[in-house]
Amino acid sequence: MDDSRGADVPGPGNPPHRGRGSQPIATATSVNQDAWVQAVLDAAVEGMIIIDEQGIVQSINPAATSVFGYTAEEVVGHNINMLMAPPFRETHYDYLRQYRETGERHVIGTRREVLGWRKDGSEVPLELSVSEVNLGQHMFIGTLKNLTERRRAEQRARQHEAELAHIGRINLLGEMATGIAHELNQPLAAIAAFTSACKSTALAEGSSPGNKVGRTVRDTVELLDQIDEQTHRAGEIIRRLRRLVHKSKPHRSTASVSEMVLDSISLIEADARLKDVTITTDLDDHLPSVLVDRIQIEQVLLNLIRNAVEAVQGRSQRVVSVITRLMATETGPPKIEVEVRDTGVGLADKDVPNVFEAFFTTKPDGMGMGLAICRSIVEAHDGKMFVAASPDGGASFRFTLPVGEE
Ligand code: ADP
Repeated sequence: MDDSRGADVPGPGNPPHRGRGSQPIATATSVNQDAWVQAVLDAAVEGMIIIDEQGIVQSINPAATSVFGYTAEEVVGHNINMLMAPPFRETHYDYLRQYRETGERHVIGTRREVLGWRKDGSEVPLELSVSEVNLGQHMFIGTLKNLTERRRAEQRARQHEAELAHIGRINLLGEMATGIAHELNQPLAAIAAFTSACKSTALAEGSSPGNKVGRTVRDTVELLDQIDEQTHRAGEIIRRLRRLVHKSKPHRSTASVSEMVLDSISLIEADARLKDVTITTDLDDHLPSVLVDRIQIEQVLLNLIRNAVEAVQGRSQRVVSVITRLMATETGPPKIEVEVRDTGVGLADKDVPNVFEAFFTTKPDGMGMGLAICRSIVEAHDGKMFVAASPDGGASFRFTLPVGEE
């Protein structure tokens, strides 16, 4: 901490004084000028600090002291460095020195992000803008905005995105494992059946009267036994894999469908804007909550919205709409329906029955896993997924979720 105190230093109880030749601030009242400056500073919502050309704090308002955890008395008269974290304290000092020596302005009139230093030693992200004033002598007013909340919100958004990507990869792997297990089961069952048939034939041959090659037959049967054993082992590995994939129950909590929709849109909005696609919403404000694994349902929404954004590429009308509604059911409680519709190319009739199948894709670089994952997630939540032609000309994907609370 720099402890250099300026002599005869103005402060809240001792406001900045003006030197000879200074121009008083024009006011409509006859209030004392210093008191007027101080009152303006104190009333400001944003943190404000006045320093002189040496960097000595002349005045600091309550909004600024609350950011740093100091009282005004602890700061006024000290070098502004005490409120700045390295490396900003060094660069700030250099800026001031350079300004004094050359009159060159580096930070005046600009807005930049710096790290402040609190009394407790912690750092605080700030947006700082510096302006120059003449209060009888050259002074600088630093206006600062505490960016802690904004940084926290950005961090939360980044974490949320990373979580979504992670769950997306897990879902993809799970769905692929299920698909591969399904595909491998049939050839394995066939190998087991052929092995068993070979064994029966060999044993029948070997036990026939007058057989001269008994030892060869016994060796062959032993080898076939080993094939059989390995086939069963491979089958067991696949069964275990399928059990593992199905075992992971979603982690559910009470959630608002509108919030999930808006969160998902916020993640894809920038990309959509870049592609000149408009995303509209028509959300029922009075929907009851749902009991879901929020990240997984957002994964579904993201997949559907992303597909829709891709489907409208190159179309004259490029609109994706997300609609939510409450649906009465004939037997049980009402369900919530979410629809993602677009003005895109739509689906060929022949493709409609296949779109939810793993590895079905009509895109040259598609994986064909997105909709299969969506359906698995929705069904694991006791919901259903549908696809139809959209009234807007493209495709309409809908899924239901049961109403529920924790
Ligand atoms: P991928 O996007 O990798 O192809 P998906 O499972 O997400 O995998 O989609 C499977 C197929 O369903 C796509 O290749 C496309 O043919 C079709 N499809 C999905 N969404 C839409 C849509 N909004 N409009 C038209 N076709 C779609």
